[in-house]
Amino acid sequence: MAAICLLGGTTGCAAVAGQGTVAAGVTPTAVTTATTAPQAAAPTTITQTHTYTATVAPEAEDPASDPTTGADTTTGTATDTDLYRDTAAAVTFTEGFWNDTFNGWDVTWHGPSQWAGNGFNDSAARDLPGAQWWTEGPRCADERADEDNAFYCSTGVVAWDHALMEPGYEAYGHSFVYVVVAHEWAHAAQQRFIEDGEAPAVLEQQELQADCLAGTTIAGAVELGYVELEIGDTERLTATLEAMGDETSWRTSDDHGSAQERVSWFTTGYNGGIEACLGNA
Ligand SMILES: [Zn+2]
Repeated sequence: MAAICLLGGTTGCAAVAGQGTVAAGVTPTAVTTATTAPQAAAPTTITQTHTYTATVAPEAEDPASDPTTGADTTTGTATDTDLYRDTAAAVTFTEGFWNDTFNGWDVTWHGPSQWAGNGFNDSAARDLPGAQWWTEGPRCADERADEDNAFYCSTGVVAWDHALMEPGYEAYGHSFVYVVVAHEWAHAAQQRFIEDGEAPAVLEQQELQADCLAGTTIAGAVELGYVELEIGDTERLTATLEAMGDETSWRTSDDHGSAQERVSWFTTGYNGGIEACLGNA
């Protein structure tokens, strides 16, 4: 088992796709594939320097912090309530999109489960001297979940760190969590394509393909009436991807791609639908 993540540059986020093992007796899905799969840009043409930490986490002054103890008294307040609510909404519309999509292929869809019930790992809560917080946190076989990241484990579990979601939510609102959830769910869809004998549908650029499928998911969920976007949301969706780009462009299957690449693939899926994201079967 291996985890595949939202962000690059971390240790526990190895790739899993590409094996193409087909379970006996599984009826291949009627995936309609695009004649031209998206291609990653040549590595030498793009130089982006955006990283998540540099762009997203605005260390705004926290007026609610106790100046004496430094304790963050905002924990568990309305912001978290909104964050959990919007994340749950993203799970619902993302699951709805994939369920409808697979049902349209006459195939039963089984979505991933969320770690701890709502997917939220709170690494900071376990960040205590001597405490090995990660032993209590989400794991993927012998890999622990990275802090400040989100991941899908091929056991069918998704998890996201509160330390990723909260600052992202502060910066980009619900658009941020929509992207995170849709991206991780896309990895579940990729695994399903492989298990169902549609391995060629999963491109080597699997992280960028997950961004592409995330775009398809959000646009599709809007079209199906599962969610409505507000003015400025589309800009915040792409800004989220831009903020999470690698410093380097895509080279190997577990690279997430540069900011420009992530935005480009997301937009391809958003405008072109699922067929624009899949490889040739
Ligand atoms: Zn990913």
